[in-house]
Amino acid sequence: MILPTDPKASYLAQAQTFDRAFREVMMSGLYIMGPKLRAFEEHFASYLGVRHCVGVASGTDAVQLALRACGVGEGDGVVTAAHTAVATVSAIDWMGARPILVDIKEDTYTISPESVAETLRRGQERRIKAIVAVHLYGHPADLTALKHIAEEYGVALIEDCAQAHGATLGGRKLGVFGMCGAFSFYPTKNLGAFGDGGAVVTEDAVLDGKLRRLQQYGWRERYISDEIGYNSRLDELQAAILDCKLPTLDSGNERRRSIAKLYTEGLAGLPIVTPTEGAGCRHVYHQYVIRLADREGLRHALDTAGIKTSILYPVPIHLQPGYRERITLGEEGMMVTERIASEILCLPIYPEMSVRSVQQVIEGIQTFFGRK
Ligand SMILES: *Cc1c(COP(=O)(O)O)cnc(C)c1O
Repeated sequence: MILPTDPKASYLAQAQTFDRAFREVMMSGLYIMGPKLRAFEEHFASYLGVRHCVGVASGTDAVQLALRACGVGEGDGVVTAAHTAVATVSAIDWMGARPILVDIKEDTYTISPESVAETLRRGQERRIKAIVAVHLYGHPADLTALKHIAEEYGVALIEDCAQAHGATLGGRKLGVFGMCGAFSFYPTKNLGAFGDGGAVVTEDAVLDGKLRRLQQYGWRERYISDEIGYNSRLDELQAAILDCKLPTLDSGNERRRSIAKLYTEGLAGLPIVTPTEGAGCRHVYHQYVIRLADREGLRHALDTAGIKTSILYPVPIHLQPGYRERITLGEEGMMVTERIASEILCLPIYPEMSVRSVQQVIEGIQTFFGRK
């Protein structure tokens, strides 16, 4: 059986190192807000080339705290893509802001800058305060255009980097372009813990201070709350595990890229749209996503052959039963989002995946199209 992703394989790859780290934390007697968190925050910031990193409890919290640190509050509008993890939108909604959703670009599946610009131009009465750019599947959103738009309209740009650890634009790591970058360390992400976790990064010392207060009850110092905060901390065990995994992030991404290359070469000539990589972009293939007319047919054929695929995401957020009523639609429609939702399919991809498994997936697809 070939799984879409396999976090246990990442444990087995370095089991002794993790077991040692686990034991070290357990014996330290310090399980929250200790030296492992400080070390990881420092190492992750330095890996990204950014000044500050604050470990939080999840990627959803990372987006939420980033928005609040940037001054977004109750009733404010926040623009993001309808084609994303529901977490991006739930983070906006939970803090009392209003999600305003727009379409994506057909080539990279990331937020359409034209739709964002048009929504900001026509939506003056909507009190729009921020744009959340999601680097979906590991490909950079169009940050050059989005930064320009954010500056023109005086709104905050926040990057949702939950699927893009180590991806770059013009040689710079994602997460450093906006006011804040939000990361998730959910186990299947490119950098994943063995539990929940997240982080917010920023260049700005004032934002860093706000994030640290929000992270823990609004505390300025212990037991003195300057504002209303959360309890959103990255624990010592997860921080220690992430610190063990960080040195292998680049090689893991490299493996994902070579698997993607095998797929793209192996699927050439079939009636399938394979992923593209924009100029100056380094895609880290959190997902390898193809598009085809008979998505369900292929999915079923692969499943029968023991190859498990996934669909990120089958239903756009503005059509989700729980969110439909809570969403404002931006300008320029949802043409691309709604069309691709029934065409996309995510093929198995993770660093420990064997070349033989990749070949099996390619052969399964070729067989489906009668090419083998
Ligand atoms: C995974 C993910 C999140 C949420 O992360 P959690 O750690 O599960 O809260 C947010 N945005 C995107 C794009 C994601 O893929």
